Amino acid sequence: MKKIFSVAIDGPAGAGKSTIAKSLSKKLGVIYVDTGAMYRAMALFLLRRGVDPKDSTAISKNCADADISIAFENGAQQVMLNGENVSGLIRTEEVSSMASKSSVNPDVRAKLVELQQKLAEKEALVMDGRDIGTVVLPKAEVKIYLTASSAVRAKRRYDELKAKGEDCDLKQIEADIIERDHRDMTREISPLKQADDAVLVDTSDMGIEEAENALMAIVEDKING
Ligand code: C5P
Repeated sequence: MKKIFSVAIDGPAGAGKSTIAKSLSKKLGVIYVDTGAMYRAMALFLLRRGVDPKDSTAISKNCADADISIAFENGAQQVMLNGENVSGLIRTEEVSSMASKSSVNPDVRAKLVELQQKLAEKEALVMDGRDIGTVVLPKAEVKIYLTASSAVRAKRRYDELKAKGEDCDLKQIEADIIERDHRDMTREISPLKQADDAVLVDTSDMGIEEAENALMAIVEDKING
């Protein structure tokens, strides 16, 4: 296997990217980089500053003050925002919504894409997001576009929240997912789309293990030839 190779996984929210990317990276013995967490850390920073998500000038100005980096603790990615580990603070609906809005900003994207490209230059990795195969790592050895129907993705999220004892509404979750997808897919810069050379995997009718095996087979085929 090549020493430095990249596996790029893109797709909409809730398709199972992070769960599958994590297990894939373990099997391959490489790091896993969750780029959504970086956009979330930036969103948290902007929320703390009280920046209006519609004010793109304010987002551009403020994002310069956010120093975002990642570290690994027992193999798990930790996101640092100006030296503070914010990994436990970025999974709220408020941050999800702000991340989806602030990630359309070109200055936010330029800053985070540069960081992501530097990581991939140094070591082999599995990286997931929305624009990894198309923009961040256009030369990635393996590109996968992972998707599932919005109904299935909403149900997965609903089950996750219910398991945590949170009160939630399935219809509202699906509406939020559709709204986020639409924003990610129609934005001017780096919209979410399948790269021409990406392999499409639809996990609507797959369990996690089946999806993991499908991806591992694609990776082995591409990397080992
Ligand atoms: O993947 P996750 O849901 O954590 O990402 C949060 C938001 O960050 C997404 O809705 C998307 O708008 C943005 N994002 C992006 N490009 C990436 C990763 C995430 O625009 N590579």
